[in-house]
Amino acid sequence: MKIARVLILSFFLFHLTIASRAADNLGANDPNAAVRYLMALGWFIPPPKSVDREFSRISDFAELKNQSSSAQEYLDNSAQTKALQLLKRGGACPNCSFNPDSSLSDDSIPPYERLEQLARFANVSGGMRARDGNFSEAVDLFIAIYQLGQHLEEDGQIYSAMVGYGLRKNLALVSMKNLLGMNPPPEVRTKLMQFLNALPNPVLGSKRILERERVIMINFLREVKSRPALLQGFILVEASGTQKLTRNPEKMCQENQITLTRALLALQQDFDPLPATVTANLKTALLAGHYLDKFPVCPGGGRLGTTHRADGKLICVCSKHASWMKSDSQNPDVPEDSKGMREFVNSPEYDRLVAELVSLYSEGIALDQSDPDYLRKAAELGTRVETSDNVLIKTIIPNFAKILECQKKLDELINDLKN
Ligand SMILES: [Zn+2]
Repeated sequence: MKIARVLILSFFLFHLTIASRAADNLGANDPNAAVRYLMALGWFIPPPKSVDREFSRISDFAELKNQSSSAQEYLDNSAQTKALQLLKRGGACPNCSFNPDSSLSDDSIPPYERLEQLARFANVSGGMRARDGNFSEAVDLFIAIYQLGQHLEEDGQIYSAMVGYGLRKNLALVSMKNLLGMNPPPEVRTKLMQFLNALPNPVLGSKRILERERVIMINFLREVKSRPALLQGFILVEASGTQKLTRNPEKMCQENQITLTRALLALQQDFDPLPATVTANLKTALLAGHYLDKFPVCPGGGRLGTTHRADGKLICVCSKHASWMKSDSQNPDVPEDSKGMREFVNSPEYDRLVAELVSLYSEGIALDQSDPDYLRKAAELGTRVETSDNVLIKTIIPNFAKILECQKKLDELINDLKN
């Protein structure tokens, strides 16, 4: 499933105190946190989508009192306690791998969506406990969410790292700040400070992430030599011999169709049925409701429109290109091979482009966060990725400058909490 990894890339982007370990008896028989997280998901009943979206919007504990009745009903279900306990036990584990038998399979994708749902639920549960004066349980939950984020980063690829970053920045650290603002008892504050002080520096291991990413890329681009079709979804060789390479517009369009469809489904989850005022101007509704940051367009001049799925939901299609749904059912892993592509991946030009790509990663790895010019250099590297005339760089690598910025941001937030 190497192609799946690269597909994910193209979509973009343990330290518990000895005292708390002893008190909670969280010493695990298996050091792999993923085992506990998966067990937690086994107990976890995912919330209805509308409740989950409500949970994701809470940034201040004061907002907890404005919950909908369905959110309240969901939170009242005490059967979820087991899932929260297992989340905490996972957080206390020293390692995390969702793919411990990597020699058997390299399909290592963790169940991101459900883990994020669990984290959002734990975050709201922690907020409720803090409001009820149970600060000790609240801080344990926020620490567990932070650890889940850190574990995801350690598990693997850039995408995992970005999910892990989001959990820490948007949930754990925000809630820790809220909690500190509520004047918790000294022992709770001390526990939190001990946790924060024991975090690695920098907290996000961008060097390690990029090093691992570089290895994945090198292996993928090497495998392409014997399986040129792997590149076909991303790049078109327009004419054999001339080496004219372009990004595959159909592929880009289908990615945009998926983005728009996801936003549409989320909108319909919140408004069911859709009011006529919304259907009359979907674009405005999607942007104003923050379902989308910007409205995607077809790169090949087609028009993105909507159609009804069998269940009546609106989804996105393009007037010019095949629908993403159709391409999904046609086994996207094995596109047809072409003579032009075979010649390209076995040419010296291909080797040159690969070498250029690898050296760009190396530059990213070499960046030093203590350099006062760090952010400017990271942004410059990002621009070079985006504007590169090297079709491999432009097409298949994520803008990894983002990772470098995230590292800095997380450090700043944590320092802010400590002061
Ligand atoms: Zn299109």
